[in-house]
Amino acid sequence: MNEDCIQKAAQMILEASQVVALTGAGISVESGIPDFRSPGGLWTRYDPLLYGSYESFLSHPERFWEMAKELNPTLENAYPNAAHYALAELEELGKCKAVITQNIDDLHQRAGSSLVLELHGTHRTGHCMICHRLFTLDEMHELSHNNEIVPRHLEDGGAIKPDVVLFGEPLSALMLSKSAELAASSDLMLIIGCSLEVYPAAGLPAYTKRRNGKLIIFNIVPTYDEDEADLVCYGNAGEVLPQVVEGYKRLVGII
Ligand code: NAD
Repeated sequence: MNEDCIQKAAQMILEASQVVALTGAGISVESGIPDFRSPGGLWTRYDPLLYGSYESFLSHPERFWEMAKELNPTLENAYPNAAHYALAELEELGKCKAVITQNIDDLHQRAGSSLVLELHGTHRTGHCMICHRLFTLDEMHELSHNNEIVPRHLEDGGAIKPDVVLFGEPLSALMLSKSAELAASSDLMLIIGCSLEVYPAAGLPAYTKRRNGKLIIFNIVPTYDEDEADLVCYGNAGEVLPQVVEGYKRLVGII
């Protein structure tokens, strides 16, 4: 791991007046939740258009639920890792205004981050596709027990769709505008474990750049937008981020 990079990142956090984090599936890989795009990931085994699109859910909800049944136990058994805790600590230190996440796994909240914008929704709740009644995770589990792969609302038979944003489904306009506002008002964005391939999330760093803000990319491999970044730190987020936060604490004399 590059010590110089960690020191530079800590210094940039010190100098910034508002820091925001943008996180993707990579930050949760060390919690045991694989990302989808890396070799062997979910999208290499399930065609996203057949299994993960909104259009396909409308006609074949069982395809989505077949994939979800493979992923759900992993989501439910996962715990926040050192990277999630590092961001929560940065917030506590007054140095992370918010976390904008593409993840649906709830791990930032469980680590203690208080302002988390879930761009792609959450797996904790779902809605009936007919009457829009809200269902909790436990209720969805209960309804999918009787050999039925798709949990259905008992009253009207509607398929229940988790509140995760599928391909071809619009993001919440409110969530997106709040995220864009945060990106535009921040002078430093920490981009952690994002391939920067999924829009509109991948467009958010440009808001920070446009107001002459800086970007730090944390990833294990190069990403598309690296030329735009002011600093790139390679390494597992769970190892690098705690060191950056330690570096920041040393700079301000807390340790
Ligand atoms: P993505 O576009 O966010 O890409 C993941 C990135 O993380 C890759 O660039 C990879 O190189 C990097 N990475 C992997 N391990 C890392 C580590 N230990 N430290 C730092 N970086 C690391 O995500 P995707 O896999 O293309 O998934 C697409 C969408 O699917 C996500 O945006 C999300 O909505 C959903 N998803 C959510 C979860 C979750 O909630 N944990 C997991 C998988 C997918």
